[in-house]
Amino acid sequence: MSRVIRSLPVMQNWDCGGGCTECCRQYAVYVTEDERNRILAQGWDKEPDLQGVELFERVGHREGNWRLRHRPDGGCVFLDADNRCRIHARFGLEAKPFACRLYPFILIPWGDRWSLGLRFSCPSATRNDGRPLSDYADETRALARILEQRSNAAAIPPPPLPAEQSLDWTDFERIVTALDQLLAQPAIPLEQRWRQILFVVDLLRTARFDGGGDPRKAVVGRRLSQLLEILSQAARDEVPVAMNVPPPSRKARVLFRSLLAVYVRKDTGPQQGSAQRTVWGRLWAAWRFARGRGRVPRLHGAIPADARFAAAESAWPQWNASATALLQRWSRVKIASGQFCGPGNFGLDVWEGIESLAVAFTAALWLGRLLNGHGQPLTEALIQAIRIVDDNFGFNPLLHRWRQRQVLRLLRRGSELARLITWYSRVACISDD
Ligand code: SF4
Repeated sequence: MSRVIRSLPVMQNWDCGGGCTECCRQYAVYVTEDERNRILAQGWDKEPDLQGVELFERVGHREGNWRLRHRPDGGCVFLDADNRCRIHARFGLEAKPFACRLYPFILIPWGDRWSLGLRFSCPSATRNDGRPLSDYADETRALARILEQRSNAAAIPPPPLPAEQSLDWTDFERIVTALDQLLAQPAIPLEQRWRQILFVVDLLRTARFDGGGDPRKAVVGRRLSQLLEILSQAARDEVPVAMNVPPPSRKARVLFRSLLAVYVRKDTGPQQGSAQRTVWGRLWAAWRFARGRGRVPRLHGAIPADARFAAAESAWPQWNASATALLQRWSRVKIASGQFCGPGNFGLDVWEGIESLAVAFTAALWLGRLLNGHGQPLTEALIQAIRIVDDNFGFNPLLHRWRQRQVLRLLRRGSELARLITWYSRVACISDD
């Protein structure tokens, strides 16, 4: 019997429209040896157009590491002329590789349950198209069963805390719920809600969850709930409005751009940025991002060729409720699902995970502003930006490197991360919708 799927408190829809086929073009699909053998046994070599065509390519030199081949036009070798998956069309959903069945769902271990998250790189997820996620209970339970056969998810501990402290799953849920509630306050500007979260996290860093060796002083259970209530109220009282937040320092902007260069990149597929194709291109792009002036290197195919850094630094010419709702939904899904830390984000501790999501949020604002400055309407620019940033969030191992984590630590100092959020949220004019 598989474990229960934990549903999200935030309303999120999804449906595969089936027509975009982006996931069959943009991603490398890794398969296990068993999956490869199963697909080879399906007899594709008898198809006239697949005779002599390699269906898989080896990744690295290790035995058993394979991925599906892509055609020169970027599409998966199994994508037909009508943009349908041939494996699915002939043998059904369950015959496809597990990675294809799972996308864009994310199943994150959460005690005796699986938490259901979503990849916003999928356009349908970002647009909130389709049916509520709760409608996919049977499908996601079947996927969870496969994951349970492959690994012992029950043995995965709750996301860590710094200084070798730990939480149990119930206390982790208490923290996630408190942070999600801060994000869900409709009367407060979203950037201010995000700064409230960083304020609370900053104070939680000083709490002794293990009681400093004395279990009677441990901040757990009811005591943690009370602390979260007090800190949330303090955040509402103490965190200033945007006009009282100083701009980020020049150093903080340089540091932010070094992370930004990872969040807005695409290394594979038809949308691969031209600057990513050679070592020199990557070095040049890194230098340009550190400098932050002139043309923006095309780390992603969606970045316009003539985009300039200055375009992302100016205030948004207008803003509306749909733009807020979109950014809020994305942030809440990432927090409430628990994807922001632990097994969903390269094992980052709870506080670092929140801060890394705050950087991703700021990166989406930066990129959205850039695209908006190049003619894309507000909501479309943000949808595109969230899709690109979320494609890397929790999935690009570069974001877990020592250097990137050091940058995150430096941005935490002097509230620079909070200042960056306010800076890239500046709006010249707010419209009703
Ligand atoms: S196997 Fe099918 S679903 Fe998976 S990438 Fe290829 S065409 Fe798409």
